[in-house]
Amino acid sequence: MKILLVYPEYPDTFWSFRHALKFIGKKAAFPPLGLLTVAAMLPKSWEKRLVDMNVQPLSDRDITWADYVFCSAMTVQRESAQSVVERCRRLGVKTVVGGPLCTTSPAEFDAADHLVLGEAEVSLPPFLADLIRGQARHIYAAEHRADVSRTPIPLWELINPRRYAAMNIQYSRGCPFDCEFCDITRLFGRKPRTKTTKQVIGELEALHARGWRGGVFFVDDNFIGDKRKLKNETLPALLDWMEQKRHPFEFYTEASIELADDPHLMELMVRAGFQEVFIGIETPNDAGHSESGKVQNKNRDLIASVKRIQKAGLQVQGGFIVGFDSDPPSIFERQIRFIQESGIVTAMAGMLTALRGTRLHQRLIREGRFLGNTSGNNTAVALNFVPTMRADALISGYRTILTTIYAPRAYYHRIFTFLREYRPLQRGRFYLKSGYCGAFFKSILFLGVIGKERLQFWRLFFWSLLMRPRLLPLAITLAIYGHHFRIITEHIRWNSMFDDGCIE
Ligand code: SF4
Repeated sequence: MKILLVYPEYPDTFWSFRHALKFIGKKAAFPPLGLLTVAAMLPKSWEKRLVDMNVQPLSDRDITWADYVFCSAMTVQRESAQSVVERCRRLGVKTVVGGPLCTTSPAEFDAADHLVLGEAEVSLPPFLADLIRGQARHIYAAEHRADVSRTPIPLWELINPRRYAAMNIQYSRGCPFDCEFCDITRLFGRKPRTKTTKQVIGELEALHARGWRGGVFFVDDNFIGDKRKLKNETLPALLDWMEQKRHPFEFYTEASIELADDPHLMELMVRAGFQEVFIGIETPNDAGHSESGKVQNKNRDLIASVKRIQKAGLQVQGGFIVGFDSDPPSIFERQIRFIQESGIVTAMAGMLTALRGTRLHQRLIREGRFLGNTSGNNTAVALNFVPTMRADALISGYRTILTTIYAPRAYYHRIFTFLREYRPLQRGRFYLKSGYCGAFFKSILFLGVIGKERLQFWRLFFWSLLMRPRLLPLAITLAIYGHHFRIITEHIRWNSMFDDGCIE
């Protein structure tokens, strides 16, 4: 059996980092971890190839080589995933579709031959058994949650790591919280399920053996969902392994804000090699946390929490949302003030979106306010529900946030705020990695010579060089990210009133 695994293209979004990747000569931020894991679950004797459409085009020859095309997608990849299925149908090659998009919206993939929904560890084996017997049905759904301690190591040999900015691994699935707008608990449950320490080390060993050095993103929904295991087993083992291998990786992940309340956990993470953490801050308005059930963010000084994490040595990336029913007219101004004061440089501000299957989606249907599908693009100027605030006021306020926080002045101001307070762990002698050189010269040209941000760039450059020379590579990296965010902001289509059936 010949299997082609296809990862559809994602559009130019906030998280694609497409305009920043050019500086380091990479094609995509991360490889398709889910498909690589699925590949490892297929029979060893089957021939496998993978085409990630974000790093190479998918040709008709690729498709016709295969007996089956396996495709997995997130919501933001909808358009490309549907066109892959259609192309395969035209070329007479059967398709098997899975992943979060297909799991939450199976009706959109009726044209595919087989749908394998939910966690592949559960739904794939019965499909494969039936396929081998020549009796595969149209739909296979996972009836229970997977035991991730049996998940195999992704088949890394199917990709060329050099095309990616960072690698990714998964330690846990699920989150103990249940925010109304989030689909994680619907997809993966509230009880965090974790891999064994041996598995995690095995996955890192596999990446190391393939020659990877650099960033590794733990794609967990909430990395600190099971703090006890993390502190007692996983992080100490990770720390030992990293020391033995002389710190070949820098780790990034996602976590909830109560990380700030646990100095020991932060210290262990930093010592183990974690440098960045994405946190859903959502709003400075406590009523928004009550409304969405974001209990961990309630009744706390969020700025102080962010600063504690930054001072512990972790850069905080933050998610922000406008469009809650409880948002007052001043929310836009308050969001901007919060983002600037917090020194969260990578601040992803989006409008509230009702994802299918979430509690928010169900509530809005009950209230007759749900309008239709979402594109899955976090920073699209699109509403898929009727907001409490007037839609035009919400959209105009949201535009103000985007244009303010990504404007060179405000953006570089945040970099300064952050770098002044950031205290990363210093390991051994400081040296400049070879990969930084190309990015450094490109940044001089594109940001320092022809960029709109020339003045701010040189101010940051000389300040870092003189005051915090070890942080110069990070300062340049953040300046490059700013270039990407600004292009994304400029590309947002301000004027269209309708998009994908959703009001804008
Ligand atoms: S804390 Fe994050 S992952 Fe967990 S339910 Fe809330 S938004 Fe989702």
